[in-house]
Amino acid sequence: MHQPVQLEEHWPGEPDFGSTFGDEEIAAILGVFRSTQTWAHRYDRHYQEAFEAEFAARVGMPHAVSVNSAGVGLDLAVTCLDAAPGDEVITCAINFPGTHLAVIGCGLRPVLCEPDPLTLNLDPAEVARRMTRRTRGVLVTHMNGLPADVGAIGTAVEEAARRLHIAVPPVIVDAARAQGAATPEGPVGRQGWVTVFSFHRKKLMTTLGEGGMLVTACGETAARLRRLRSFGAGRSWGSSYRMTEFQAAVGSVQLRRVDGLNDNRIRLARRRTRRLSAVGGWQTPPEPAGFRHVYYLYTLVLAEGSPVGARDRLMRRLQQRHRVGTVIANPPTYRRHRLIARETADQGPFPIAEELGRRLLCPPLHPLMSDVENVRIADALVECAEALGLG
Ligand SMILES: *Cc1c(COP(=O)(O)O)cnc(C)c1O
Repeated sequence: MHQPVQLEEHWPGEPDFGSTFGDEEIAAILGVFRSTQTWAHRYDRHYQEAFEAEFAARVGMPHAVSVNSAGVGLDLAVTCLDAAPGDEVITCAINFPGTHLAVIGCGLRPVLCEPDPLTLNLDPAEVARRMTRRTRGVLVTHMNGLPADVGAIGTAVEEAARRLHIAVPPVIVDAARAQGAATPEGPVGRQGWVTVFSFHRKKLMTTLGEGGMLVTACGETAARLRRLRSFGAGRSWGSSYRMTEFQAAVGSVQLRRVDGLNDNRIRLARRRTRRLSAVGGWQTPPEPAGFRHVYYLYTLVLAEGSPVGARDRLMRRLQQRHRVGTVIANPPTYRRHRLIARETADQGPFPIAEELGRRLLCPPLHPLMSDVENVRIADALVECAEALGLG
């Protein structure tokens, strides 16, 4: 039996400033301030353009369009589907609610799918099953840092489209949690029609707390996204979705750091997995061959058949006894959002998504977490599992 672990601090479940700021970011901000200190200075967007060019080069795509959040990025990507009211977009039930709201906000219908129970990601076979003649898009989220199999999903979509005699619906990828991750086809951002990244303060890198980026190989779509971002550029509808020069300057610095930060996450996660694998009672996060998991979150799923309420008891004990916070990322979106529940009320049941929503939890992981902290959190988990009779 382990001794109770005394921690000095509270470890939040999903820490803010997931990527932290250092001297280089501070210097970048001061540089922007200094550039404005004559009355004749001109704001010419060169910070944003540089950040976009660097981001595009890193992903290996021709176009990157910066915006002020990934939520807005998803809204704009779905807008570019040009679907008619009531048309359908296929998406996984286990998801971030904003992802489904982007579909609903455009007057479209989110058609929910079951996740793969091991990866939590959209299951390609489910996509094929749920596609209809009204399917106009597929919205794939890379859950918690492990990319979905976009290659297999693309193949399933093409086959189903042929069978249904419809145009192949474009794949939009929500990579808010997966910057720097990779599938066997290459880095996240290179698959799909449009990929959306987030620089929110919790994410893998951040542009002063808010921000987002869209990447695409399609020049026409990129030009349209730029018009939508800035009042239609004198031609069409648009609004104001730009990021600031301060955000872009910090983004350029964070972009140089993100791989190193992700490497820290991966190292910590693998050590934790080694420690937690010794105890039964849960499924540790998988790393399927050929996929790079960047561990935006460390997802534990209690074993099938674990007692009702065990996950909630585990979370409570972790918090009260060890001051280790956890988050549930994510239950099916309709469980946490009334509008999504109303819009999808005629769908389901989704037994796999429901079961995962009852059994998953994410203890904290942060690129600056020390090995000692990481071990303490793992020990706290083991203590709780033993005390609660899991495994
Ligand atoms: C955080 C997040 C978003 C939204 O990002 P913002 O930049 O905060 O708007 C969208 N999708 C997923 C999967 C996310 O985790």
